[in-house]
Amino acid sequence: MGCLNTEHAPVTANFKQPRLRSEKYLRSLREMPCLSCGITPAGVAHHLLRAEERGVGLKTGDNHAVPMCNPCHTRLHMNGDEIMFWDLVGINAYEWANKNWREFDGDT
Ligand SMILES: [Zn+2]
Ligand SMILES: [Zn+2]
Repeated sequence: MGCLNTEHAPVTANFKQPRLRSEKYLRSLREMPCLSCGITPAGVAHHLLRAEERGVGLKTGDNHAVPMCNPCHTRLHMNGDEIMFWDLVGINAYEWANKNWREFDGDT
């Protein structure tokens, strides 16, 4: 363990926690309804920015992506505070991402 700053962390730190990558999962997300407003298909797979801070999981990557439409996605990034955005929407996007990933898991 030690410093979590990626600039100082030893290379092996990245080795132990590989980022999850699944283009197939991202494609399936883009076909889903927007998590914020429900428009189908969402079209954008947004990677949750604050998943690690929320302690949702140690591994980050495509498992923390959620479906969003273009306007909602733009609003989220303009909002600046992702956690506040999802609080306003009334959806726990972090829990949603975890649950959806588990259901998808094994189908890569
Ligand atoms: Zn939307
Ligand atoms: Zn995004």
